[in-house]
Amino acid sequence: MKKYNILALPGDGIGPEIVNEALRVLGKVAARFDAEFTVNAALVGGASIDQSGMPLMPEVLAAAIDADAVLLGAVGGPKWEAMDYSIRPERALLALRKELGLFVNLRPAKVYGPLIDSSTLKREVIEGVDIMVLRELTGGIYFGEPRGVETLPDGTERGINTYVYTTPEIERIARAAFEVAMKRGKRLTSIDKANVLEATELWRKVVIEVGKDYPEVELSHMYVDNCAMQLVRNPGQFDVLVTGNMFGDIISDEAAMLTGSIGMLPSASLSAGNKHAMYEPIHGSAPDIAGQGIANPLATILSVAMMLRYSFNMEDAAVWLESAVDDVLDKGYRTPDIFTEGMRKVNCTEMGDAVLAELEALVS
Ligand code: NAD
Repeated sequence: MKKYNILALPGDGIGPEIVNEALRVLGKVAARFDAEFTVNAALVGGASIDQSGMPLMPEVLAAAIDADAVLLGAVGGPKWEAMDYSIRPERALLALRKELGLFVNLRPAKVYGPLIDSSTLKREVIEGVDIMVLRELTGGIYFGEPRGVETLPDGTERGINTYVYTTPEIERIARAAFEVAMKRGKRLTSIDKANVLEATELWRKVVIEVGKDYPEVELSHMYVDNCAMQLVRNPGQFDVLVTGNMFGDIISDEAAMLTGSIGMLPSASLSAGNKHAMYEPIHGSAPDIAGQGIANPLATILSVAMMLRYSFNMEDAAVWLESAVDDVLDKGYRTPDIFTEGMRKVNCTEMGDAVLAELEALVS
């Protein structure tokens, strides 16, 4: 029997509600696939600040390092917004990413047929869109030195950030991207700005070099400004996108918005060899609806599917969960965020129930 340790960090706002549903679904996977998931839960973000004054306690970080995977809800909320930046809830996420070495961020942007009208784009543009964006998460301009704002002798100021990537940093994210492309449609587009930035000229060179190990993958390159346009003009052309930290930050949000439904989008952040991993919905803690029991748990349930695929190599189980989510949407179940007239409005727990029932129906 496969045995895995999972650290659940529900966090703030709707975090506990959605993680609860995701863990119920995980229980179902254990029963069917002869796997044992030991789930430990701990506080993170604002909930941790309230108890101990810190967004991430050292013992929680140690538990995250020990775990086979971390499942996070969301952190933050108005209650903690006035606090000093160094102890804000979001610091917990940065610390987890850094300490677990989570250098690759995977963000799928899939348009679900039954939700197609939630998008602001025309149906014919987004029909069938299924893109995976890989963003480098621990390097690039967000971390490059020198950085800061300095005062010049004439009294004016100069702001500096440094766009920097080394060959090994590019190699590892490129390799991760080719591996993901191999499991999908075998088409990879690397996004850069090699016409202007030397650092991304190196990016392109290294990606091409790594690509020689993956002759089956069709590799193309695109400047980031063109990619931003192509994503809204003809997103169906993309399979897997890979890019650096800053471009990835922007492009992955743009790709997510093609779908129009923030409550549906999961994500994964992985370290080298998937030794450490954190799975979470891309949305935040939704303080406006927290405690009402109406949050959409599907992004978190789909994050569990990514966990099964990328951390536990349980592809069949991942597909099973994803199929159940597809079927639940086909049958018209909708939490309020994705509700349209004529559909079956359900709350967070009822959506969890619907997924569980669909999982059973798929087996029998
Ligand atoms: P948000 O994603 O929390 O909410 C944006 C809108 O989407 C809200 O109207 C919310 O009700 C809705 N929404 C989000 N997820 C939903 C779900 N699962 N079901 C139904 N509706 C959902 O973004 P925000 O309002 O900008 O941020 C709120 C807090 O979350 C802030 O403190 C922010 O810093 C934090 N945040 C945390 C993360 C994270 O933990 N990874 C990410 C983004 C924002």
